[in-house]
Formats: sequence, structure tokens, C-alpha cells
Amino acid sequence: MKKTYNIAIDGPAGAGKSTIAKKVAARLGFIYVDTGAMYRAMALYFLEKGIEPENEAAIKAACQDISIRIAYEEGVQQVYLNGSNVSGKIRTEAVGNMASAVSTYRAVREKLLQLQRELAAGEDVIMDGRDIGTCVLPDADTKIYLTAASRVRAERRYKELTEKGIPCDLEEIEQDIIERDHRDMTREIAPLKQAEDAVLVDTSHMTIEEVADRIIQIVSERRTGDGV
Ligand code: C5P
Repeated sequence: MKKTYNIAIDGPAGAGKSTIAKKVAARLGFIYVDTGAMYRAMALYFLEKGIEPENEAAIKAACQDISIRIAYEEGVQQVYLNGSNVSGKIRTEAVGNMASAVSTYRAVREKLLQLQRELAAGEDVIMDGRDIGTCVLPDADTKIYLTAASRVRAERRYKELTEKGIPCDLEEIEQDIIERDHRDMTREIAPLKQAEDAVLVDTSHMTIEEVADRIIQIVSERRTGDGV
């Protein structure tokens, strides 16, 4: 079987990972795998069941009742939680914060690891998350660590929400981002960090197109180097 080509993109919240990964996937003809959506789907289940994020035992037990499935409909990732498509429902701040809190637990991470590896083994993928280059796909062909200053990331999020007519506060968003990053970077299991062999791309002063071009350039340099 031909080995698939895997690109890992990790980085903090709001660095632009999903926007960039979608663009790069379209340009290279790869599948975009959003692993944050899988954590969000699990978080939605715990929220709907009224399980507190501090209650590790209840979370661990509930993991056995959860089935997450990923499908691609017209090229767009859809996340199914116990048979229901929850792709729209998982995009709230409450679900994002719950995902960040519960993703510290081994039971939650183990539940998703196999699924993520299977997706990457079956297709050429660009997969984004926090631990893709370090844990999920340590042998990924190209690894990118995408980041930006927290203020810039907060401003991007503020603009996105304001454009959707959702009232929000810039300071609060920045505080939320800082807290989420801190939790993701300091957790014991699979913390967010740059893999040794990842290329750092700071997007603070770059446009989306510039970032996509840079990543395509990194990938093509590697592919030429590897004789792919
Ligand atoms: O990227 P997104 O904001 O959708 O991810 C939600 C949360 O899921 C993150 O804050 C992080 O705590 C967790 N996550 C993770 N590992 C991944 C992807 C997401 O721990 N690979």
C-alpha cells in the first residue's frame, strides 16, 4: 500500500490553523482533518449530560457511551456524535472551553487517538490540533507550528464574532485565549508544544494567503528533498 503524505499543524487557539489548513488542503488535494472538532464533540456530550469538567470519574465513565465518527460531505468534515451530526453545535465558546478542560484527561485523549491515526493512514491529510506533530503523528512528513501574538489572535476572533453580529469584549477574549493556551501547554498528557522537527510560522504580521503560500513552499521543499 502506498504510504500517505501527512502534514501536521499544531499551535495555540486562534492562530489560524483551521483556515490555513483548509486552504492548503484544497490546493494540494489533501483531506483536512480538524481534531479540535472531535474534542468539541465529546465536550458537547458532557455539557448536555450536565457532567462537571472537574469530575474525572464521571467523564471517564461517560467516554464509554460516546461514539465519534468523521465523514466528508462535499469535501467538508462533518462530526457525528452517537449518530447525530453536531458540526454546527460545537462551535460555541462554551463548548471550546469545555473541550479545553476535558482534553486534559487520558480517557478523553485515548478515545480519539486511534481515530485520528486511522484517518491519516488512509488518506493524504493535513491535520490540525495541539499534539499532532508530537503525539498523534510523530512521523508526519511535514510539521508546522503555527502561532501569533495573543493580542493578534484575540483581535481576529473579535472581528469574526463582530462580523457575525455577536456582541463581545476584546479584553475578555484575550484573557480567555491566554487561559486556554496555558491549560493546553501545561497539561500532563500531550501538552501543546512545538515538535523538535516542526517549522515555526508566526502569522502575527502575515495575511492568510501569505501563510498558505509559506506552508505550500515548506511542503514542496520537503517533498523534493525526500524525492516524493
Ligand atoms: O482547536 P479547537 O479550539 O477547536 O480545540 C478545542 C480544544 O480541544 C483545545 O483548546 C484543546 O484543549 C483541545 N484539543 C486538544 N488536542 C487536539 C485538538 C484540540 O487537546 N489535537
